[in-house]
Amino acid sequence: MAQKMIEQDAYIYHEITQLFPNARCELKYTTQIELLIAIILSAQTTDDSVNRVTDNLFNKYHCIQDYADVNLSELENDIHHLGLFKNKARYIKLTCIKLRDQYAGIVPNDQKALESFPGVGRKTANVFISEWYKMPRIAIDTHVKRVSIRLGLVSDTDSLEQIENRLMAKYDPSNWIDLHHKLIFFGRYFCTAKLPKCKQCPLLSICQKPLL
Ligand code: SF4
Repeated sequence: MAQKMIEQDAYIYHEITQLFPNARCELKYTTQIELLIAIILSAQTTDDSVNRVTDNLFNKYHCIQDYADVNLSELENDIHHLGLFKNKARYIKLTCIKLRDQYAGIVPNDQKALESFPGVGRKTANVFISEWYKMPRIAIDTHVKRVSIRLGLVSDTDSLEQIENRLMAKYDPSNWIDLHHKLIFFGRYFCTAKLPKCKQCPLLSICQKPLL
């Protein structure tokens, strides 16, 4: 266990590992660009919804050039089941044009460079870099934020950047990617926003906000 973890932080990591030993990215993809597109599409929607759309999308479009060339209204129609589909279609097309014209079709592993792409913020860049390049990152999404507050890992007044920094300070970099997935699974399937399973929760004794 990493030296940086204090006892309670290590306990939290241990318990969510017991609950979700195989937590992982649930977006379906096979290539670098498919992963980036799936992450862009996942803003404010579930991974399941994204996977249902990308099943067809990734059969229709095969490379960056396909997305760069597509008529925007056609791409909008392809992803119209997802919220914010007009913005997302525009982001995908513009991102692929930029990748083609400025990055030789390779998605960069540089945080700042990635954040300069349309539709790619800090969270998207962190998810991509950790998932594709396996570089240690903790992306803060709605699940990670909620459960980190409930478990007292961070304060509910912290900004997203403060939450990210606090979690990184508490855990060793070798655990960041795994921790990120496990906090997401814990938030998605156990400590849910409306009906958390508090009565069965192994972390009830340290929880700051149990809903009993
Ligand atoms: S006790 Fe309830 S709110 Fe607290 S961490 Fe467990 S499931 Fe979440």
